[in-house]
Amino acid sequence: MKSGNSVLTACGTTIFEVMSRLADQHKAINLGQGFPDGNGPPDVVAAAASYLADGWNQYPPMPGLAALRQAVAAHNARFYGLDVDWATETLVTSGATEALAACLFGLLEPGDEVVLFQPLYDSYAPIIRRAGAIARFVNLKAPDWSFSADDLALVFNDRTKLVLINNPQNPAGKVWTQDELSLLSAFIMRHDTMALCDEVYEHLVFDGRRHIPLMSLPGMRDRTLRIGSAGKTFSLTGWKVGYVTGPATLLAPVIKAHQFLTFTTPPNLQHAVALGLNKDDTYFAGLAADMARRRDFLAAGLRAAGLVVLPCAGTYFLTVDLAASGIAMDDRTFCLHLTEKVGVAAIPISAFFEVDAPTHLVRFCFCKRDEVLAEAVRRLAAGIV
Ligand code: PMP
Ligand code: GLN
Repeated sequence: MKSGNSVLTACGTTIFEVMSRLADQHKAINLGQGFPDGNGPPDVVAAAASYLADGWNQYPPMPGLAALRQAVAAHNARFYGLDVDWATETLVTSGATEALAACLFGLLEPGDEVVLFQPLYDSYAPIIRRAGAIARFVNLKAPDWSFSADDLALVFNDRTKLVLINNPQNPAGKVWTQDELSLLSAFIMRHDTMALCDEVYEHLVFDGRRHIPLMSLPGMRDRTLRIGSAGKTFSLTGWKVGYVTGPATLLAPVIKAHQFLTFTTPPNLQHAVALGLNKDDTYFAGLAADMARRRDFLAAGLRAAGLVVLPCAGTYFLTVDLAASGIAMDDRTFCLHLTEKVGVAAIPISAFFEVDAPTHLVRFCFCKRDEVLAEAVRRLAAGIV
């Protein structure tokens, strides 16, 4: 018999699924896959339940409910001063994962080149290849995960169609600076390309830093699509509600892709997320402050266990440097060992690289309840090797 698509048959099961199942099997504390273990804001969850009971159970409009699209536009204005027309410049998707696929399928032609920054989220490169496009990687190196104009000059050329960035960046915990965004925008404009910004961690930025969407830089408004996720902003990762904002001309083919990928997203969840996005500023500030507190608690526990922890400016994730900690195991071996023998699961950072992967870095997720983090720290303190 003939075989399935070669790009997808070549992919393994994602590392997140693999490590979560391994954690279940060994009753390990799962600091691997990035999901909070609380139940999200009670008013948002209650709204979803009541809309469900009130009959919001049939297909909503294909690009999303007006209430949520208006809330997405208002959120862009409130936090970033972006003036967005909800009716032509927003789209609701079934999570950021679908948003990414819809954007890439909607924008790319076979043979187009896409500039990406490693470490990267694991869905990017397979979808780009499935769209027939070619990925060009810039390698960010720990501990500062920075890049230079020379790095960009090596990957940009006449065939560059799109640049895909993740800011704040999983797993690096990197929050892109104004200078980095300006440098990148200069290349984007010089090569007349467009940007796709995965900004699912936009409200998880710590220590007084500010999230700056690339879209808000001079000249970038009409060449950028930016993606948000209710999963991250409301600590409800199972909901899979995402939203895309961007100029109508770029969004139009993305909406066509969305109509054939999922067509719609559950209407009760859309109403509840609209309520969430309209919450006052104290909710968003509280989310970041609470997560920074958890970061500090886990970082202290990892350090106490003898691990060298890299700086983390945002996201759900801390990175540990095994080599600097005097541990000779590679990242995958260490993660298996830690899950099976210590009872704490983590993610090898090599899984976020398509080429030239470092093998001395491991990611720990800190968006967990205090008692869960405390038990993880206790297990790590009992000995890691
Ligand atoms: N992008 C990044 C960088 C992520 O970490 C995640 C994962 N949670 C997603 C996209 C997917 O988000 P969603 O659950 O909304 O599909
Ligand atoms: N984004 C989450 C992480 O990085 C996982 C999402 C998934 O499992 N696909 O851990």
